[in-house]
Amino acid sequence: MKRLQTNLEKKSKQLKLSASAAKAFSSDEEVNSSLATPKKFTSFLSLESSMKDEKIQVFKNEKFVCIKDKYPKAKIHFLLIPHGDTFPKLLKVADIIKLPKSVEILKEMKDISDKIINDKFPDDLKKKALCGFHSIQSMQPLHMHIISSDFQSDCLKNKKHWNSFNTDYFIKLGDLIQNLEEENDYFKSDKFNLNKQDLLKKYMDLPLKCNVCHVEQKNLPTLKRHILTHK
Ligand SMILES: [Zn+2]
Ligand SMILES: [Zn+2]
Repeated sequence: MKRLQTNLEKKSKQLKLSASAAKAFSSDEEVNSSLATPKKFTSFLSLESSMKDEKIQVFKNEKFVCIKDKYPKAKIHFLLIPHGDTFPKLLKVADIIKLPKSVEILKEMKDISDKIINDKFPDDLKKKALCGFHSIQSMQPLHMHIISSDFQSDCLKNKKHWNSFNTDYFIKLGDLIQNLEEENDYFKSDKFNLNKQDLLKKYMDLPLKCNVCHVEQKNLPTLKRHILTHK
């Protein structure tokens, strides 16, 4: 009896472990799960354990931590994440927009990302760096992507991955700051209403287009080869 109990305990420990491991980090799943109907998922993918992993940290101060994305969609792919007690819990872009000091915080993120790009990106990729947020986030907490726009990576596997960075589904940091400073209604407009997830998801179905010359490509392998023709 005692033995059975121990075995059961062991088993449940193992189960707990594997469940948390599965939840720990997978940006690869991010786009897919964010596109699932809200009813389907009960918990968000958490970045918490990755944020503490010093092996993948590229920058850290009392307010922000920057880590390598474990499933990079390009040669360089980092995530810049507000952390600590400085901010209320930020889960999505709309949360940061609501903060009274949103522009200040985003400008701080801009300064840090500029520094990270300057320090960590190889010279030929510095000018190709993209900074911004997915309009629908399924990983917690809120994170900003800092990615090189070569998109040469085996982890970039499907049209959703591509369109999540190369359509208006991707909110560029500069655009976000500009729109907030001008206090216009961009984020309430029909083009980009953060409350209308169905509308945002339509960006994923747009045809695959080159991010340099905007010519449509028939599939992802063709597109990846095509990008290499731009130097
Ligand atoms: Zn993301
Ligand atoms: Zn092209």
